[in-house]
Amino acid sequence: MSVLVVGSIALDTVKTPVEEHSDLLGGSASYAALAASFFSPVKLVGVVGSDFPESEFAFWKARKIDSEGVQRVSGKTFRWSGEYSWDLNTRRTQSIALNVFEHFKPELPDSYRKTDFVLLANIAPSLQTHVLDQMDRPRFIAADTMDLWIETARKDLDALLPRIDLLILNDSEAREITKETSLIKAGRQIRRMGPRHVAIKKGEHGALLFGEDEFFSCGAYPLEDIHDPTGAGDTFAGAIAGYLAGRVGTVHFTDLRKAMIYGSVLASFCVEAFSLERLRTLSMDEINQRYETFKLMSQFEVTG
Ligand code: AMP
Repeated sequence: MSVLVVGSIALDTVKTPVEEHSDLLGGSASYAALAASFFSPVKLVGVVGSDFPESEFAFWKARKIDSEGVQRVSGKTFRWSGEYSWDLNTRRTQSIALNVFEHFKPELPDSYRKTDFVLLANIAPSLQTHVLDQMDRPRFIAADTMDLWIETARKDLDALLPRIDLLILNDSEAREITKETSLIKAGRQIRRMGPRHVAIKKGEHGALLFGEDEFFSCGAYPLEDIHDPTGAGDTFAGAIAGYLAGRVGTVHFTDLRKAMIYGSVLASFCVEAFSLERLRTLSMDEINQRYETFKLMSQFEVTG
């Protein structure tokens, strides 16, 4: 089954303490769509300007990412620039130029409306809602968000949450939205705000998953070299949504546990290079190998 992915498509400038690159492909939907495409066909929704490289459309086509829902508008593509400190965890947004994003209103092609799985990657909650309103009863809806929307669009976010099957957010956002210091309390409290499941990402410390009476915790892959953490969260969300869409039948908590591992695997590859470069060359064999490593790492009763 396909997964519909809506979010930002951007040209990013990223600076780490050792490297700086500009005009890289970025945006929440770019990362999420490519990650999801390893597991299921993708229908992408977004907007780009006239400066956006044509080659990306050809790349999406080659990867079974349908770009009929990507609007091409005259003007400049959304631009974001960020700088990381030495821990490669703390990030400062240096500039944002909304450009064609400013008047973006996602309109779904007819062929997208019946898609069963949806990932509302990080964009304003009012736009995420606008996409859902055009859909014909999807089976599973995952959504990502960020501190900006918790601070500036709380009403819209609160209205969206009861419609969500899985909300994905990072630890600082979970604390911010609930005003709780404990992530366990925060996860449970966010569930009471509406989403059926909540995934809290803890960066290099792994992730937590909360269901009605279920809980799951996983570690992160022990990487030695991180080059660019940008998009790790979007990649995590994309792989989860793609994995779930690629299976048959109802989504159970056991499927979500596996999806969290695939999300962690893809995110660990994403940060190995700038922009989407590592994801572009990644193979399913490499994904499966790392998945197996995760399995071994999480066993604590070993025989022999
Ligand atoms: P992440 O590292 O997962 O937080 O995602 C980074 C991506 O989010 C970058 O490629 C940016 O282009 C994109 N981004 C940054 N700010 C926003 C925003 N306000 N809305 C949508 N996407 C954004």
